[in-house]
Amino acid sequence: MRYPHDKPPVLSLTPGPVPVYPEVLHALSRQVPYDDDLPYSAKYEFVVERLQSAMQLSTKPLILQGEPVLGLEAAAASLIASDDTVLNLVSGPYGRGFGVWARRYGTQVVDLEVPDNQAIDSHAVSDLLKRYPQTAVVSVCHHETPCGTINPINEIGAVVADHGALLIVDAVSSFGGMNTHPEDCQAAIYVTGPAKCLGAPPALTLLGVSTRAWAKMKANPTAPRGSVLSILDWEDAGLGGRRFPFTTSIADINALDAALDLYLAERPQAVWARHDLTARTFRVGIAALSLSIWAASDAIASPTTTVVRLPEGVSEAELLGDLRARYGLLVSGGRGPTTGKAIRVAHMGPAAHPLHAIAALSALGGSLQRLGFDTSPGAAIEAALQVVELST
Ligand SMILES: *Cc1c(COP(=O)(O)O)cnc(C)c1O
Repeated sequence: MRYPHDKPPVLSLTPGPVPVYPEVLHALSRQVPYDDDLPYSAKYEFVVERLQSAMQLSTKPLILQGEPVLGLEAAAASLIASDDTVLNLVSGPYGRGFGVWARRYGTQVVDLEVPDNQAIDSHAVSDLLKRYPQTAVVSVCHHETPCGTINPINEIGAVVADHGALLIVDAVSSFGGMNTHPEDCQAAIYVTGPAKCLGAPPALTLLGVSTRAWAKMKANPTAPRGSVLSILDWEDAGLGGRRFPFTTSIADINALDAALDLYLAERPQAVWARHDLTARTFRVGIAALSLSIWAASDAIASPTTTVVRLPEGVSEAELLGDLRARYGLLVSGGRGPTTGKAIRVAHMGPAAHPLHAIAALSALGGSLQRLGFDTSPGAAIEAALQVVELST
């Protein structure tokens, strides 16, 4: 059997955008109201309030009208003053990419770089801050999605706070799928979005901004105003009768509303446990298939995406093609350092269920055998079922 290329996959386990929850899809078909009319203002305030509770924030979160890359660049443009020294932590492509923006807005950028399968050590951050005591801003990516690795942002945040610097966190692919919140890591600006673990479409940036970050941005003469990159323009926008700088992405606010409903109703702890169980089930099966993960250890492996190293002699394109054509399974190839060397299987939002991990292991075992790799899909399924068994 060949599964047609022009049909949507039977199962999509991509690390964002993810297939959205059915309730979120339904919310996208709601009427699009005029944004200056009371029913929409009330709805918007309600969404912001619930986002505040989901993000466990003591300040009001902001919603920027664009994919989280907007929020990341806006954070750099707004928080980094032209005479600032920035310490940029790099454990993969997103951290490296942030350095481009940091260099555009700051005067001196110091990179602390570790190999792409490892995590940043907070002691190394502490040491570098002693060498560069003038550091005003530190930036870190929580989950390097191309590598499937997690940085210890709460420890890093404590070190940065001790030093008196401000921390920018990219938590786009971790928030909603594990226990992480802006104030847990003492973030000045915490950037996330709805299209990964919250199971909504890509369109918005969700921002946590601390009181100190507001003060620094307001004192920064080059912080954008009257620009799509502005964070300052969005302070209290849509709240208490304050107008929006420009029209919001109304349909996507409706989708976010539904996604937050699902997240809070299931209870965040249960959502994180579902992501964690799915990832553990998948990793155990991967080991039983005689494969290894990209991350240097299980301790730093992401609960929301597993990056699997390709075995010798198996090409990324062949494996992805076979999974899609034989089983209708869509997973992603590598990105940056993992390009051509790994595949990425996400456990995000609706995909975060052990049954999806088991299905992916079966297909992966089948395709690898087909491509000449000596492995045992049966052993992987049994090992995976054991993990589910032990969790119930
Ligand atoms: C997905 C993602 C983003 C957003 O990037 P897009 O290219 O817009 O999807 C930012 N940071 C991380 C770590 C991500 O995984």
